[in-house]
Amino acid sequence: AAKEAGRARFEIFVPRLGDRRRRRVAIEQALRGALSRSEMHLHWQPRVDVSRWEVVGAEVLLRWQHPELGRINPDEFIGIAEDAGLIAEIGLWVLQRACAHAVQMPPHLLVSVNVSPAQLQREDFAALALRAIERSGLPPQRLELEVTESLFMDETSAQALANLHALRNVGVRIALDDFGTGYSSLAYLRRFPFDTLKIDRAFVRELMTRHDARAIVRTILELAKTLGMETIAEGVEEPAQLDVLREAGCGSIQGFMVARPMPRGDFLRLMKNWTTPGTAYMGLDLDID
Ligand code: C2E
Ligand code: MG
Ligand code: MG
Ligand code: MG
Repeated sequence: AAKEAGRARFEIFVPRLGDRRRRRVAIEQALRGALSRSEMHLHWQPRVDVSRWEVVGAEVLLRWQHPELGRINPDEFIGIAEDAGLIAEIGLWVLQRACAHAVQMPPHLLVSVNVSPAQLQREDFAALALRAIERSGLPPQRLELEVTESLFMDETSAQALANLHALRNVGVRIALDDFGTGYSSLAYLRRFPFDTLKIDRAFVRELMTRHDARAIVRTILELAKTLGMETIAEGVEEPAQLDVLREAGCGSIQGFMVARPMPRGDFLRLMKNWTTPGTAYMGLDLDID
């Protein structure tokens, strides 16, 4: 019977591994023509200043809808694009589009764009990015590039850092994304003068249930303040989390509590209908008479 069970498990397990590999290959194939077939578009997620409760910016997030494979998450396809050598082209497209659209938005708005380590490690990244910014007419100060700690993982990071310095020198802001999840987060802060520190969703998620998460977030915010960096917490879903973050001095937030990432038209409407500070608090019932 044990033998039977073992074989059954074997038969189920192997084809599933094969499926996963097949899906990877299919995604890689599909990625090659995704831009030219206009299957990709951008979503915008508002970033809200905690003390003023105003929309101060937005993070641009890539979306991909394939006719057969359906909607594929960036967490799945970005890695495949990196391995297949396709991320430079896709990433540049995101940057060009994000800048072109940001230029048409209110001039105080900061636009944040994610950049892969694989993009940054290319020698031509800074030059290509600068040209894209220039052509769009977006003031460089309105652009923020989000990089992750994996940037520092290998020897090629010297090129990546050179690119970041070149961009920062003309006023582009650089944010360290998913802060606290990496292997040696604190050490990375000494490697580059980041403008913004983005606290990972994992800490925010545990804010209400774990005392250590609260202590860690407080300490990160304190550290950022000391080093002169702006702070943003990602993945804020509940007013209770916001209260803790506000009390701890967090600069801005982003998360489902305010809004999910949305098409540009919806984002523009959201800003237009944004209510005055104090009344926009999600937990508040605005219709009481
Ligand atoms: P990220 O840069 O850390 O982006 C934040 C992710 O958290 C987004 O997932 C966003 O939709 C999600 N999120 C925002 N608020 C909440 C919340 O309150 N609760 C929860 N549970 N999730 C929230 P998304 O759009 O699926 O993107 C996943 C990752 O894919 C991004 O993580 C980023 O690393 C990568 N990515 C997305 N777009 C691009 C891109 O244009 N270029 C590159 N290189 N990477 C991208
Ligand atoms: Mg990001
Ligand atoms: Mg993040
Ligand atoms: Mg992430």
